Amino acid sequence: MLEKVVIANRGEIALRILRACRELGIKTVAVHSTADEDLMHVRLADESVCIGPAPAHQSYLNIPAIISAAEITDAVGIHPGYGFLAENADFAEQVEKSGFTFIGPSADVIRLMGDKVSAIAAMKKAGVPCVPGSDGPLGDNDKDNMAMAKRIGYPVIIKAAGGGGGRGMRVVHKEQELLRSIELTKAEAGAAFGNDMVYMEKFLENPRHVEIQVLADGHGNAIHLGERDCSMQRRHQKVVEEAPAPGITEQMRRHIGERCTQACREIGYRGAGTFEFLFEKGEFYFIEMNTRVQVEHPVSELITGVDIIKEQLRIASNQPLSFKQEDIVLNGHSIECRINAEDPDTFIPSPGTITRYHAPGGPGIRMDSHIYASYKVPPHYDSMIGKLITHGETREVAIARMQMALEEIVIDGIKTNIALQKRILADANFQKGGTNIHYLERKMFGDEH
Ligand code: ADP
Repeated sequence: MLEKVVIANRGEIALRILRACRELGIKTVAVHSTADEDLMHVRLADESVCIGPAPAHQSYLNIPAIISAAEITDAVGIHPGYGFLAENADFAEQVEKSGFTFIGPSADVIRLMGDKVSAIAAMKKAGVPCVPGSDGPLGDNDKDNMAMAKRIGYPVIIKAAGGGGGRGMRVVHKEQELLRSIELTKAEAGAAFGNDMVYMEKFLENPRHVEIQVLADGHGNAIHLGERDCSMQRRHQKVVEEAPAPGITEQMRRHIGERCTQACREIGYRGAGTFEFLFEKGEFYFIEMNTRVQVEHPVSELITGVDIIKEQLRIASNQPLSFKQEDIVLNGHSIECRINAEDPDTFIPSPGTITRYHAPGGPGIRMDSHIYASYKVPPHYDSMIGKLITHGETREVAIARMQMALEEIVIDGIKTNIALQKRILADANFQKGGTNIHYLERKMFGDEH
């Protein structure tokens, strides 16, 4: 097992990684910016190193500072968490070149899956269902591009190969708009991602977001932990997630899960990962792979009993997977509500000091958060301050527990989105299950983004 690990992240995921390390007897090094000295995991870590000023590009994105912290503390591994450098292939490469273990897949695999055109090509080859589209980058021939869009059928979406975070895409409804949209998306992608390669896909009008969690040990063993439904989104940001996804049958799960694990074996995947799909009319369409642990990983943990972070640490220590596919049995239902420091109506971030905090409790309640009374939420980072996760023998019980927990929780001193989460949980269509990715914006706010 790795002896000492640098946690190259902050907030709730840093604390989550620290807890997993403790359970495995791994020593921890917290690295933090000057704005984050008061983080819970910094207090709890065996050692801590300040790696720079508050702006992320000078601290949490500062590769030499993080590698230096590993060197001076004699750490052996670096866990990137999610966000920041987690999907940066150059970081993974430099970590390994400096003699440390990157807790994640190889730099080559991160690179392959980070470029959407090469990711889709690899997935097609492995038999993973993809959105009908251009099967590669668009060329300069206007006639060919027009013919391709006609064949795929409008509406189509033009997407940047290097895009991310919901940026670098444009929906085209009419033939007259096609060429200009390609030109604009190319120009934007070149400026934003330094890569102007774009491709075309059929635009699915009312899909759900359903994703498959995988674990692979890089020695040919790969398993999946079923799916999560993350359709409740605002501006491509997930707000509520759940597992299993309403309406997905055991047969559908097995079929798509097998395709994903097969793809892991073919690309030599190592670690935890997620295959993201749009799901429409009973069909899965691959859109991208996240080569890291995700925010919403706890809902899969609660229905499978697998600790995904501990598995990441075991895999990085060159141990084989602790589970076989037949060991994975889904038990009950789990829901996660992201708790953000933001105004529930305007969504404007609300940093500041938490004056009172009371965490909810009871059977089937898990609160993953680094906050405490008197903690000051800094203005420099993502506004998510915690995740409230419930588990129950049925979806109804998981919902009832979430509603109770949202009533019990107290976070005073800053604004939070708890009121919004209560509205979502009380919504008749959410309670029915299976709403699509536009539901939250269109039906609940009449918001047209
Ligand atoms: P990013 O890496 O920027 O998150 P994705 O490829 O994951 O980009 O797409 C982000 C979101 O854009 C999806 O969750 C979905 O809402 C929308 N989207 C992407 N491709 C399509 C498509 N072919 N049809 C409909 N919506 C799409």
